[in-house]
Amino acid sequence: VDDDCCISPATAKLYSCLDHMRTVLGDAVPDSILTQAAIKCGFDPQKALDAVLFDLHEPSKEKKRLILFAGQIFFPLFPVAKSRDVSHNKLDSEVVPKVARMTVSGKKQTMGFDVPRYLTHIWENGVVTASVRRGGSPEDATATPASEATPKRPETPAKGSNGDEPSTVPTPGRSSGKARQSINIKAELEKRQGGKPLLNLVVIGHVDAGKSTLMGHLLYLLGNVNKRTMHKYEQESKKAGKASFVYAWVLDETGEERDRGVTMDVGMTKFETNSKVVTLMDAPGHKDFIPNMITGAAQADVAVLVVDASRGEFEAGFEAGGQTREHALLVRSLGVTQLAVAVNKMDQVNWQQERFQDIITKLGHFLKQAGFKESDVFYIPSSGLSGENLTTRSTVSQLTSWYSGPSLLEQIDAFKAPQRSVDKPFRLCVSDVFKDQGSGFCVTGKIEAGYIQTGERILAMPPNETCTVKGITLHDEALDWAAAGDHVSLTVTGMDIIKINVGCVFCDPKEPIRVCTRFRARILLFNIEVPITKGFPVLLHYHTVSEPATIRKLISVLHKSSGEVLKKKPKCLSKGMNAIVEIQTQRPVSLELYKDFKELGRFMLRYVGSTIAAGVVTEVKCN
Ligand code: GDP
Repeated sequence: VDDDCCISPATAKLYSCLDHMRTVLGDAVPDSILTQAAIKCGFDPQKALDAVLFDLHEPSKEKKRLILFAGQIFFPLFPVAKSRDVSHNKLDSEVVPKVARMTVSGKKQTMGFDVPRYLTHIWENGVVTASVRRGGSPEDATATPASEATPKRPETPAKGSNGDEPSTVPTPGRSSGKARQSINIKAELEKRQGGKPLLNLVVIGHVDAGKSTLMGHLLYLLGNVNKRTMHKYEQESKKAGKASFVYAWVLDETGEERDRGVTMDVGMTKFETNSKVVTLMDAPGHKDFIPNMITGAAQADVAVLVVDASRGEFEAGFEAGGQTREHALLVRSLGVTQLAVAVNKMDQVNWQQERFQDIITKLGHFLKQAGFKESDVFYIPSSGLSGENLTTRSTVSQLTSWYSGPSLLEQIDAFKAPQRSVDKPFRLCVSDVFKDQGSGFCVTGKIEAGYIQTGERILAMPPNETCTVKGITLHDEALDWAAAGDHVSLTVTGMDIIKINVGCVFCDPKEPIRVCTRFRARILLFNIEVPITKGFPVLLHYHTVSEPATIRKLISVLHKSSGEVLKKKPKCLSKGMNAIVEIQTQRPVSLELYKDFKELGRFMLRYVGSTIAAGVVTEVKCN
C-alpha cells in the first residue's frame, strides 16, 4: 500500500497474483516465497504457482512436505471447518476418489491426495504421479474404454516393471520373494499396544451438529492437545470471529504444522481409552462431502453419530435432505454395526430428559430400520462445547437427576473389539501413494485382510505387478509386520510409482484379488426419485475408489428378507427394492465376492450427489 487509500499498479498486480496463488495454496506457504515467485514470474499467477511447485523438485524433506501439503490443499478430505465454505467442491468430490490423512502420536502423515488435471504435467514430470486417477467423470469421453483396459485375473505370475530392482516371479507357497518368517500373528497382535486392540472410529452427522467441536474437545481433555496450542486456537478463533469453533480447530488444523508454514488437515488422530487404541476419523457433514465420508466409513469399525439436540436443529438434520439419516444408512451399509449417538448441544435445551427421549425415540425407530440392532446403539447426552459427558461423567445436576449412564469415552471403550480377518490372504486398499526419500515409494491404506512382513513380495492389482515391502510404518512406528485392521504406510521397491493409483489393492501374489470391469451384485435401493433402468449411469464408491459405472443389466427383483426372486428381467427398479444387477465400470476395479471377503465386497452407488443404493458383490465377470 503506497499510502492510506492508494495502491500502485505494480502492488495491485502483486496482490492479485498472491491472492490467486493463495486460493490454490492456502496460506501455509510463507508469503516471502509466494512474493519471490510472483516477482520472478512477472506476476503471472500460473507461472508463479508452477515455480513454487517446481521448487519442490529437490529431493529434500521440505519438498516432500510441500508436495503432500499441495495435494491436500487441492482435495482436503475434511475441509469442513478450515474454510467453512463447502459450496465449491462438489464436482471434484463426486468424481475424484478421496483419501484420508492420518495423524499419529501428534505427528502428521498424509494418506493421500489427487491432483487437478491442470497440474498433472507437473507431477508427471516430477515425482508424484501415482495418486492421479486421470479422467474419471461419467462425462469424460476421453477415458479408456473398459474393454481395452481390463487385465485378466492373473493365471500366470505377475510381471515386474521398470522399477529400481527387477521383479521376480512369485514362487508357490504363502510367501514369494523372501521367505515369510513364521510368526504367530494372533499372539503377536494380542501382545501389541500393551494388549489393547485397535478400533477405527468414524464420526458422522449433519453439518454443524458439533462433530469437530465434540471430538476436538475430547482430544483436548485427553491431553492430546497442549494448553499452549489450545490457547493459540482460542486467540486465533476469537480474532477470526469464530470463537465457538475453538475446539473444532483442533481437528481442522494443527499449530505445529502452521508454525512451520505447512498446514495439514487432520483426517485421522490416535487416542487411547482404558482398553483400546482408537484411530479417529472425522467425517464431513456436508452433503457434498459424502463421497469422502464413504472412504472414511469404509475403513471404520464403529461410529459416533452426532446429532444436535437444539429445537428445530435435530429435525433439520433428520429430515429428508439432512445428513443424519444418510450417514447412518451409509455406515451401516459399509459394515459398521456398533453406534454411539451423541445427543449433543444438550446445554441448549437445558438438559431436558423429554427432549433426549423424544430424539432417541425418533432416531431409534429409524436406526432399527437401517439395520442396527437396538442392543448395539448407545445414546449419550452431551455438550461438545462445555465438555459435559465427554471423558468423564457429567456433574450437571439437571442431567445427573435423570442420566447416570456412561460418558462418550466410556462408551467408546466399551465397544466390542472388531474381528479381524488375519487368517485370510493379504489385502490392502491404497488410499495414497507418494514418493519418499530413498529408493522406492510409499503407499498408505488399511490392511483389510491377512498380514504383511517386511521383505515380502506383494502384488498390486491393477496393474498386476509385484514389488517388495521394504518398510512398514504404523502410527509413526517402524514395524516388521502389520495385520488386518491396521492403517499402515508401506515403503515398496521394484515397481514404478506411476503404475499405482489410489484404489489399487495390494495383495498376496499367490491368492490375488480379482480385477474386473463387470460384476453382478445384490443392491438395496434407497429413497430414490428416478427409477433405475438399463444403462443408468452411477458412481461406484468402493473403499478408496470412486469410479464411473453403468447399470448394465437388471437381472431380477428379490424379496427383501427371503431373497426369493419376485421378478426376472425387470424394466426398472424403484425405491426400497432389492435387486440383482450387473454393473459395468469404466476402468478396472479390484473386487472380492462379499461371501469371501465382507470388507472388500461392499460398495455404494451414487447419482447426481445422492447415495442411491448399497450393494454387495455376488459374481465377478471375466472380461
Ligand atoms: P460440525 O460441522 O458437525 O463439525 O460442527 P462444529 O463442531 O463445527 O460446530 C458447529 C457449531 O456448533 C459451532 O459454532 C460450535 O461452537 C457449536 N457447538 C458445537 N457443540 C456445541 C454444544 O455442545 N453446545 C453448543 N451450545 N454449541 C455447540
